[in-house]
Amino acid sequence: MGEKDIYRHDVIVIGGGLAGLRAAVEACDCGADTAVVSKVYPLRSHSVAAQGGINAALGNSPAAKDDTWEKHAFDTIKGSVYLADQDAVEVLCREAPETVLELEHWGTVFSRNKEGRIAQRPFGGAGVPRTCYAADRTGHNLLNTLFEQANSRGIKFYNEYFVTSLVVDEEICRGCITLDLQSGKVYGFASNSLILATGGYGMIYDHSTNSLINTADGMALACNAGAQLKDMEFVQFHPTTLYGSNILISEGARGEGAYLVNSEGDRFMARFAPQANELAPRDIVARSIMKEIEAGLGFDGGYVHLDLRHLGAEKIKERLPGIRQIAMDFADLDPVEVPIPVQPGQHYSMGGIDVGIDGETGVKGLYAVGECACISVHGANRLGGNSLLDTLVFGKKVGKKACNERNGEHVSAVKDVMSREINRLQGLLNNKGEGFATLMSEMKKTMFDRFGIFRDEDSMNEGLRSLNDLGKRYKQIVVKGSGKVFNQSLVRVLELGYMLDIAEVVAVSAIERKESRGSHFRTDFPDRSDDQYLKHTLIKTDKGQKRSIDFSPVKLGLFPVKGDGY
Ligand SMILES: Cc1cc2nc3c(=O)[nH]c(=O)nc-3n(C[C@H](O)[C@H](O)[C@H](O)COP(=O)(O)OP(=O)(O)OC[C@H]3O[C@@H](n4cnc5c(N)ncnc54)[C@H](O)[C@@H]3O)c2cc1C
Repeated sequence: MGEKDIYRHDVIVIGGGLAGLRAAVEACDCGADTAVVSKVYPLRSHSVAAQGGINAALGNSPAAKDDTWEKHAFDTIKGSVYLADQDAVEVLCREAPETVLELEHWGTVFSRNKEGRIAQRPFGGAGVPRTCYAADRTGHNLLNTLFEQANSRGIKFYNEYFVTSLVVDEEICRGCITLDLQSGKVYGFASNSLILATGGYGMIYDHSTNSLINTADGMALACNAGAQLKDMEFVQFHPTTLYGSNILISEGARGEGAYLVNSEGDRFMARFAPQANELAPRDIVARSIMKEIEAGLGFDGGYVHLDLRHLGAEKIKERLPGIRQIAMDFADLDPVEVPIPVQPGQHYSMGGIDVGIDGETGVKGLYAVGECACISVHGANRLGGNSLLDTLVFGKKVGKKACNERNGEHVSAVKDVMSREINRLQGLLNNKGEGFATLMSEMKKTMFDRFGIFRDEDSMNEGLRSLNDLGKRYKQIVVKGSGKVFNQSLVRVLELGYMLDIAEVVAVSAIERKESRGSHFRTDFPDRSDDQYLKHTLIKTDKGQKRSIDFSPVKLGLFPVKGDGY
């Protein structure tokens, strides 16, 4: 291990999804020598899978002529069940129009309306059509645009470098340690500031829409480095995932007018959300589907129908080509002719690394942005189309802030942690015990069964005991194959370690919140309690050992707290 095994940059961004690339572009434009480290080739980040669109009050639709950022903010805050911090929501919604236009000017080809302006479709929980889209492949278009922008600036990419640890010395983040997957060699990175943009944790759950790489890495790394996690009990279940495979069927389908229908042919959402119907927020629609299924009004196996047929072949082919293809490839049916079988599935993490408005964590020099962070703009339930926006608005802000950080790098601290990591990884290769597959499937099942759409104390306590037990068994986990080159088994084992850490945090946070709000629905406490729980849950792990729980007030100010009927 020598000097050449340590790379130095002013700003290191971990993650090549939308949040990471937007942050990197901004840091570079501010004059910082910037590098992106990603465990997959950036265009394979989960952002590429985003379908339905990105929200901005452009007012391009005839039904939304007088749309404003304030209306967007109101919908977001109401959708969050008043748990979002209103100062952050203001930034998100105010900066939305210029953010979308910037991406358009950089080359994103958005779908157009008849006047030639960016087209906007209705989305759940939104008062007017506000979601800009590129057919149903919005993430793909945005990510390719930003990747081009990053490359044109000469930003350095370390692709297929897996971050195994952060370096924190004198309570300042000094860089990170990585495993180069191609060679199996460990490299250190020394930096002035480091931005985590590592995405969500969908893989801790069975039935998730997420990519296999969404394994909570950044949240666990931050937690172990002394940063705190916020509102981790809030896990979004998307109402419409393809029955069986749980591939997402975008909310864009309901935005274009698709119906949800039970086994008796009834459009049941009218009973649960008489005004918004299929376009109520996701938490409400997901619970309604489950209630229909539990009442015996679903189809055998546990699903309902998403019916697009009345939209007509032309509209489906033009606006929803991706989901039509998914239905044909993975369910062997054409939604032009047959309804799509759908069931709710885990989709998004509202909680994450606790950060301020510029992405700063409690650890100096360490920042976080995108789905791994909680700023918080989504509160107890995220509105569709607000996550892509979150990655871009706050990606830009964090890039600017991190660029101006002047902590000076400490190569010696990086070297120390690097030698510890080399020993730890070797230790993992020498373990004798269980393989990761059993532990992983037990974790996923526990999370889905015990910390899913409906929760209660006894079941969650049982779930937490199982997770604790899995944590103990993990200590003796076996890595199959001791080869260094692309040792995927080693990567899966490291990811499982991150996931078990974060699954426990979700569990502890969910048990702590004894009310129902947004995505967190407790059958033993079915009511929302603003008196006791209009506050954020904070979890901190001291030196990776002792966990403590705290709370912080929600920042109000724009809109008064009200009911949440739709
Ligand atoms: C199927 C699907 C459809 C969606 N559709 C929409 C939509 O239409 N509109 C909307 O607003 N939102 C949508 N979302 C949500 C939104 O796409 C995501 O929240 C957002 O793209 C996350 O971006 P990100 O940059 O934070 O993370 P990601 O895009 O997930 O990127 C994470 C990055 O971190 C890197 N990384 C992680 N761990 C490590 C490690 N240990 N070492 C090195 N690198 C690491 C990965 O390589 C990757 O590059 C959708 C989500 C899904 C799953």
